[in-house]
Amino acid sequence: MDLSRFPRRRYTGFDTPLEFLPRFTEALAATCPAGKAPRIWIKRDDMLGLFPGGNKTRKLEFLVADALAQGADTLVTCGAPQSNHCRITLAAAVKEGLKCRFVIEERVPDSYDEQASGNNFMFRLLGVEAITVVPGGSNMAAEMQKVAEEVARAGRKAYIIPGGGSNAIGGLGYVSCAQELQQQMFEQGVRIDRLVVGSGSSGTHGGLVAGFLGNNIRIPITGIGVSRDPADQQPLVLKEAQAVLDLLGVAVRVKPEDVECVGGYWQPKYSVPNQRMVEAVQMLARTEGIPLDPVYTGKIMAGLIGLARDGFFRGDENVLFLHTGGLPSLHAYEREVLGEKKDLPA
Ligand SMILES: *Cc1c(COP(=O)(O)O)cnc(C)c1O
Repeated sequence: MDLSRFPRRRYTGFDTPLEFLPRFTEALAATCPAGKAPRIWIKRDDMLGLFPGGNKTRKLEFLVADALAQGADTLVTCGAPQSNHCRITLAAAVKEGLKCRFVIEERVPDSYDEQASGNNFMFRLLGVEAITVVPGGSNMAAEMQKVAEEVARAGRKAYIIPGGGSNAIGGLGYVSCAQELQQQMFEQGVRIDRLVVGSGSSGTHGGLVAGFLGNNIRIPITGIGVSRDPADQQPLVLKEAQAVLDLLGVAVRVKPEDVECVGGYWQPKYSVPNQRMVEAVQMLARTEGIPLDPVYTGKIMAGLIGLARDGFFRGDENVLFLHTGGLPSLHAYEREVLGEKKDLPA
């Protein structure tokens, strides 16, 4: 698949590491039936560039390049109060000498606190130009359009990036990740039997499905929902994967069986902590020294752990976990993650 015909900015000067997790694998096996677990590997997309990077960095390489090609001077995007996507978009804007504005959706009522730690702190440190806070369920596209019109009235030019950077252009970032992974498996002589990835606004999961289909990478992908169960999530991912393939001009139809989604780990609500997330964050931190975040990767890893205990994987499989980042929000949930809040839902 030829990505070179799309403009791209580079924010990471290396391939993110692909590593085996021996101590985590051992600890997981000890909690699985018959003491057997698959071998768990990790791809460190939490080490991508920008402040600090995560999966949004890969999407923004293509989105920001498109914004610059169109002569924009201001990026407008949206997200939840602890949005990693907003933080990384702002960091990209700073690096490119652009301004940046957010529309923040309070999916949990009254959850936006300008003084909050984590990503909110970084919004201020990096110098966001303006933040508009709207209630949960608002039409985010319309709200961002209003901000873009305000920017235009000031004689400037806005470029709107949808939530999570998940459109066809953003999805190219995860086609590029698929190609990077394919090359790494070849060079390191590693066989991966299954990829486990988070599935939210769908650019990551959908971009990978597109990249795997288009490059004939025959490894199943399991997407763990962070805000929706499969009936709602699967059609979103399928649509994203198809849009990416269409943009690339690859004549492949994505079939429903190409998009596997798992639910049940994000409840009670997007971004609200649960006990299984706490167990997963503590387990990886205390076996491998790698932090996960409470909103996304903690719940995604809880899904991997739960699937392993349910016998979803074959015992001798090599399962790759994609670490999509999100570290700053760890600081907005320190007591929960340390297990010091006793009333968390299961
Ligand atoms: C946004 C995000 C995800 C989900 O990725 P999508 O492309 O929105 O599906 C997963 N992990 C982290 C840390 C994120 O910030």
